[in-house]
Amino acid sequence: MKTLPAFRLQRPRSLEAALELLDDLRDDCRVLAGGTDLVVNLRNQSETPKVVLAIGNIAALRGISYDERDGLRVGALATIGEISSSPVIDQLFPVLSKASATISGPTLRAMGTLGGNLCLDTRCHWFNQSFDWRQSCGFCLKKDGDICHVARSSPICVATSCGDLAPALLTLDASVVLRSSTDERIVRLDDFYLDDGTTKFDRRPDELLVEVRVPTSSAALSGFYGKLRVRGAIDYPLAGVAVAGKLTEHGFFEHARLAVTAVAPRPYHVRDAEHFLIGKPANDDTIRQAAEMVYNATTPLKTGGMYSPGYRRLRTRLFARDGLRTIAGLEER
Ligand SMILES: Cc1cc2nc3c(=O)[nH]c(=O)nc-3n(C[C@H](O)[C@H](O)[C@H](O)COP(=O)(O)OP(=O)(O)OC[C@H]3O[C@@H](n4cnc5c(N)ncnc54)[C@H](O)[C@@H]3O)c2cc1C
Ligand code: SF4
Repeated sequence: MKTLPAFRLQRPRSLEAALELLDDLRDDCRVLAGGTDLVVNLRNQSETPKVVLAIGNIAALRGISYDERDGLRVGALATIGEISSSPVIDQLFPVLSKASATISGPTLRAMGTLGGNLCLDTRCHWFNQSFDWRQSCGFCLKKDGDICHVARSSPICVATSCGDLAPALLTLDASVVLRSSTDERIVRLDDFYLDDGTTKFDRRPDELLVEVRVPTSSAALSGFYGKLRVRGAIDYPLAGVAVAGKLTEHGFFEHARLAVTAVAPRPYHVRDAEHFLIGKPANDDTIRQAAEMVYNATTPLKTGGMYSPGYRRLRTRLFARDGLRTIAGLEER
């Protein structure tokens, strides 16, 4: 068993106290929510903060609510289990419900939170290892080294973003609320993620992700989430595609969103396919062309996992096809 390195633990009881501590500590501090990702990284010494700020006691960060004026609001500390068992999310935002139900197993879903999932570290076979393993192979530029072992000429880390909730929330046009002791920012989730596997987010060190908002205009869209993983009961995605949309009464795509995860340093929309679909008849020919666009927009690298980048890419096409067939009301193959 790897032991935890030394750090000071702070457990504020109010949001204001947490934000003041964050303001003081900034880069010396890491936020701990459910701890299912951070504790592993602390044990591996891939994270070495002086202070760990445990936010689990802050009641203001909990809760799931929906009304027609404000849309869906989910607190950063809502657990994955609460999201997957929420009747309002199941009925009005099925893509989010489906994606949350695929995350790991029941024990992790009881601990892991929405905020932790959206702020999950990127993953790479060369990095998610013990300190000794990384030292023996040579550190990489994500921490302590100066070269990327996956893409040797890359000036930035290309580790993979592996969260399942982000693509689902992208298809729902969600935003995140970021609070600091001095201000509040509402950032579209699409703008929150960056292309760099080290920097990862548009989030300042003094900011806490406090809430996720989904607009009413995204309610009642049909939804699908397809996920490739090694073991169906526990593993991270090696490719994932979220699809949300609806048809006109005459069977044309009126609204369509497709987002992918686990194939790049950030989750992203496939805009070409989204634009192409609007106004097109919801038949197999349209769906085949859109699924091809998803395939063309996907270029995973060999950052780990048992499946080759080529196979992961192929599965994005199949998930996009199955997802669009679901939206179209065509039988899944
Ligand atoms: C065996 C195993 C299987 C897993 N399978 C999956 C999977 O299938 N799909 C998946 O998506 N994930 C998976 N995970 C990753 C992770 O457990 C989940 O994503 C979980 O939701 C993380 O939430 P947490 O609250 O435990 O995060 P934590 O570990 O507490 O935090 C994760 C990161 O987010 C930051 N953070 C947390 N909350 C906030 C906040 N409010 N504001 C700012 N920063 C914050 C932390 O500082 C840390 O960097 C798996 C993990 C393990 C160990
Ligand atoms: S992608 Fe490169 S820099 Fe990033 S963790 Fe992997 S080896 Fe390190």
